[in-house]
Amino acid sequence: MKYFSLNQQAPDTTFKDAVIRGLAPDKGLYFPESITPLSPDFFKNIDKLSHTDIAFEAIKQFVSPEIPEADLKKIIEDTLSFDFPVVELNKNLSFLELFHGPTMAFKDVGARFMARCLGYFSKGNAQEDVTVLVATSGDTGGAVANGFLGVEGVNVVILYPSGKVSDIQEKQLTTLKKNITALEVNGTFDDCQDMVKQAFLDDDLISKMKLTSANSINVARWLPQLFYFMFAYKALHDKYENIVFSVPSGNFGNVCAGMMAQQLGLPVSHFIASNNENNVVTRFLDTETYNPKPSIQTISNAMDVGNPSNFVRIQEIYNNNFGTLKENLSSYSFSDKATIEAMQEIYNEFSYVADPHGAVGYLGAKAYLETHPNAHCVCLETAHPTKFLDVVGEAIRENIDLPPQIVAVMDKKKKSIKIDSYSDLKAHLLS
Ligand SMILES: *Cc1c(COP(=O)(O)O)cnc(C)c1O
Repeated sequence: MKYFSLNQQAPDTTFKDAVIRGLAPDKGLYFPESITPLSPDFFKNIDKLSHTDIAFEAIKQFVSPEIPEADLKKIIEDTLSFDFPVVELNKNLSFLELFHGPTMAFKDVGARFMARCLGYFSKGNAQEDVTVLVATSGDTGGAVANGFLGVEGVNVVILYPSGKVSDIQEKQLTTLKKNITALEVNGTFDDCQDMVKQAFLDDDLISKMKLTSANSINVARWLPQLFYFMFAYKALHDKYENIVFSVPSGNFGNVCAGMMAQQLGLPVSHFIASNNENNVVTRFLDTETYNPKPSIQTISNAMDVGNPSNFVRIQEIYNNNFGTLKENLSSYSFSDKATIEAMQEIYNEFSYVADPHGAVGYLGAKAYLETHPNAHCVCLETAHPTKFLDVVGEAIRENIDLPPQIVAVMDKKKKSIKIDSYSDLKAHLLS
């Protein structure tokens, strides 16, 4: 598959090069040159296929021929070594649980897939290591660190804002060692992200080392997220015809991957981008004016994004046509107060413990159902509630059992390097 830059100022390239670069030389996001729908039989017979088979068929065209089919199958098997259960609440609502991976956030799948692709490409290229540089507001760092742990030829440097991630999130990204380094930034998530961007623009630095990103701008982290939507369809298509996905959205990589599944022929009626108060897309759909703002801190912190990177990909999918976009996507925005009340409601009505991100997804689904009572809305539950123990515990006043993945990191010793500025980061990278 060839990939082109959405800024249109860089040459087309291969999957391999797009993964290694992350961002195109003109700073545009890469997008596949074509999307060939899967056969209607694939969806008709989806019950007979395993998760690995579904994922393989869905992503093959985007990855071949650079990763041969047998190797791709192995990468997918390794990536998907856990389950993706659908929990039906009633005839209108389900939760799709995406938190059964090693760091208990949906980003595990993308991070594990990307790590294995990059590992595959750097095999036999021992003279030049790749450095993955990533800024995190909480979940990305842990998933990337875990996904890349021990991958040969790849070093990972994670920047996180000191004191602004949850204790468990911090443990997940500072206790792994080996090829993973955590830089604790005296500043906000935006400061971390700015430093990472500055590094990618620093010609002196990039002439001395191979740098790539592991945010959802990287095609190998973004595309495997389309699997989830197919897994949910497999679980629900016998019972419901009018399937809608409510996706708690920050950088809009996940919902955009769902739209790729739709382009591959998945029968999806509609998408809902559910937002916290960082609501640039909600406002855009209301006013047709795209007006990004600095991010504000909320209890669903993985969605505290002021200017979502993947929105340009969504625009591309719907041919930059506002009308087509609105037919396929609705967006709603909710306050922290409404999110806490939603966690309580979900617990009281359905005995289900949702995390703050899943609760925002639930609110989006409920808002949509008011005008579309025949839809079945699948809310993506993107993180395990214990990752946000303080907030969830306070909302539902119930002890939640800690899963083994969380217990395993609790007592480990944190190891981070404190930095204040871009020059500290650069000095570290070159040391
Ligand atoms: C990253 C993340 C999101 C937002 O996903 P995007 O692809 O950035 O829109 C939502 N929930 C959780 C728990 C996350 O970690």
